[in-house]
Amino acid sequence: MDKISIQQCFQEYFGRAPEILVRAPGRINLIGEHTDYNAGYVLPGAIDKAIWFAASKRTDQALHFYAADLEESFTSENGEVIFQREKTWANYLLGAISEANKDGIHPGGINVVFGSDIPLGAGLSSSAALESGVLFLLNELYQLGLSRMDIVKLAQRGENEFVGMKCGIMDMFASVMGKENHVVRLDCRNLQYDYFPFDAPEVSLVLCDSGVKHALVDSEYNTRRAECEEGVRILQTLDAGIQRLRDVSPEFLALHTSVLPPVVYQRCKYVVEEIHRVKQACEALVRHDMATLGKLMFETHSGLQRDYQVSCPEMDFLVEEARKNSSVLGARMMGGGFGGCTINLVKKEAVPDFIAHMQEAYQENYQRKLKTYPVQLTNGTEVLNG
Ligand code: ADP
Ligand code: MG
Repeated sequence: MDKISIQQCFQEYFGRAPEILVRAPGRINLIGEHTDYNAGYVLPGAIDKAIWFAASKRTDQALHFYAADLEESFTSENGEVIFQREKTWANYLLGAISEANKDGIHPGGINVVFGSDIPLGAGLSSSAALESGVLFLLNELYQLGLSRMDIVKLAQRGENEFVGMKCGIMDMFASVMGKENHVVRLDCRNLQYDYFPFDAPEVSLVLCDSGVKHALVDSEYNTRRAECEEGVRILQTLDAGIQRLRDVSPEFLALHTSVLPPVVYQRCKYVVEEIHRVKQACEALVRHDMATLGKLMFETHSGLQRDYQVSCPEMDFLVEEARKNSSVLGARMMGGGFGGCTINLVKKEAVPDFIAHMQEAYQENYQRKLKTYPVQLTNGTEVLNG
């Protein structure tokens, strides 16, 4: 899908040209994994894979959506938003609108066609792009006066409350707030953010999609959160100022290893180190020091694998293969864990060889085709008219 084809698709489906075209990108996270719910930092960016929307206002209250990739439509004739058991994709759009409605924001009806080139199931946040994209286009069409941060927050509420996924704010934030050739450091404690340049012409970001999704994801995610909270409760007895793992320095943790149950200590160690690594990664980016950035990414993977224990054999294999390759500066699993993509920092001229080698190795070991995606960092959600 692209700008031209989504426009044509709208024309064919609704019989006239759309008023507006919107691009809502997917996202990567360079470093800072499992730090969001510990009030730490994340360092995501929007990418050149996106959901493309074509849309127009209607004179009535109806909501007409056409999912071009699925060739499926959904209509709410009176604009009512009700959870859809059958058409799950519609819930991402309806949830975002439902949350706006709760805040007294009632845009009129819309016709929407959308399609995407964000790979499915790869953990690149197509759902966040859907939610924030529909709010963004409503905001433009109906001049709702929402800021980008308002859109981010409403989109997250939609996913949490309506879709029922307790995700953090990073995905929507990255999709909406991205900036070309930059990553953005989000402080998950207070939502303050800063852009950092990722403009090294000699390196590329390449995603390797393991193609696996282990069933553990949700239960283990909840367990990790509980373990972090347990760590905080215990460490609080030593320093009342500790509210979240964000408040614990690596030095403090090292001094108090023995008060924590071994597994809780391991989890806390990873999180505390990872929050520190995001800061170091930002300093490295300012210096255009990609070698240090890569080293930090490898360290993150080791932490996720050994201390946080959310990796899986397929992703460990992909990272180990990457580590053997002298053209790879850094690699790590990306996302919550137990499957999805690895993110690799690769010397640009070596990208074709890297991809060929990884595909061959993965095929040999897992008899499975490895999908790979070189990605560029782009602007966040934007209007494409003109
Ligand atoms: P992620 O956000 O990591 O891509 P999710 O499971 O959170 O994965 O969201 C994926 C869901 O979003 C899909 O199951 C589908 O319901 C919806 N979705 C994403 N892209 C599209 C698309 N192009 N057309 C229709 N629905 C989509
Ligand atoms: Mg999602």
